[in-house]
Amino acid sequence: MVYDCLILGGGPAGLSAAVQCGALGLSALLIGNPHSQNPLGRAERVDNYLGLPGLTGGELLDAFQRHAAERGVQMVTGRAIAAMACGGVFALTVGGHVYQGESFILATGVARGRPYPGEERLLGRGVSCCAVCDGMLYRGREVAVVGLAPDAAQDAALLDQMGCHVTFFAPERPADLSPAIPYKKAERLEILGEDRVTALAWEDGVFPCAGVFLLRETVAPTALFPGLELAGGYVKVAGDLSTSLPGVFACGDCAGPPLQIAKAVGEGQKAAHSAKRWLDGQRKTAENNKE
Ligand SMILES: Cc1cc2nc3c(=O)[nH]c(=O)nc-3n(C[C@H](O)[C@H](O)[C@H](O)COP(=O)(O)OP(=O)(O)OC[C@H]3O[C@@H](n4cnc5c(N)ncnc54)[C@H](O)[C@@H]3O)c2cc1C
Repeated sequence: MVYDCLILGGGPAGLSAAVQCGALGLSALLIGNPHSQNPLGRAERVDNYLGLPGLTGGELLDAFQRHAAERGVQMVTGRAIAAMACGGVFALTVGGHVYQGESFILATGVARGRPYPGEERLLGRGVSCCAVCDGMLYRGREVAVVGLAPDAAQDAALLDQMGCHVTFFAPERPADLSPAIPYKKAERLEILGEDRVTALAWEDGVFPCAGVFLLRETVAPTALFPGLELAGGYVKVAGDLSTSLPGVFACGDCAGPPLQIAKAVGEGQKAAHSAKRWLDGQRKTAENNKE
């Protein structure tokens, strides 16, 4: 099925966008990490969300999620690892599944934690965020998996099955990491190489490798959509929350400050309206071209 809109991110912005898409009659699919991993869940008390003061972040999130479920929002839990625009349709890879939509709303929040030295320079030249997409390129070669996402050990196993020679780097060994995969305790990392990755350095040494898979809970919007313009480290948006890529809208924390719930909820709603207007325009143009 091709949805009218794919929404990435199950925080306040994404949930608000999904509820509004439903109200506007758009078919929408919300894709997001498990609810329990949302950063707002760590807020002990939220006092500035209108009408609902004194709740914990978790309670607020539960209320948002319940509301979305009651409105029939379709949700998929999982980490999106790659996106592609092709022939007027966006395709989003989540685990082994690909979902399609005619428009796209980014509501991914902000990535907490800085990129590793060498990461941005070598992204796409040995640095990858997607085991499923790029694993076969490294068949028979040494690769480092930097496991920061809860399901990283599964991706490491997948790379191993593909024939990559995997070594796993993380601050702690995950319980589900295969005993066949070597593990290195690592916190300070640097990706080395001039034009392509040649090694991963960590506090205890240098590991020569052809590829480094950075498996984080979140994937930067620019890694999902190469060419997406940023402004001040956030996705650059116009007043209607459109981005530099036609049909892609951004809302909430990923679209810039203030990084607050009320702003995220408001922008989610606005992004849904803008996606609808854009879809209407596209469809009208397609009809006119037929005549
Ligand atoms: C401890 C704490 C306390 C806070 N207290 C307050 C407060 O009192 N008042 C206030 O207004 N704000 C507060 N905030 C800020 C508030 O949480 C954010 O502004 C708000 O959650 C932003 O909503 P969002 O939907 O834009 O992003 P987020 O809530 O960050 O949601 C984005 C979601 O998208 C998911 N995601 C990203 N990439 C992917 C991917 N590739 N695949 C799948 N899922 C993905 C993320 O895991 C995340 O769950 C607080 C934040 C923290 C951390």
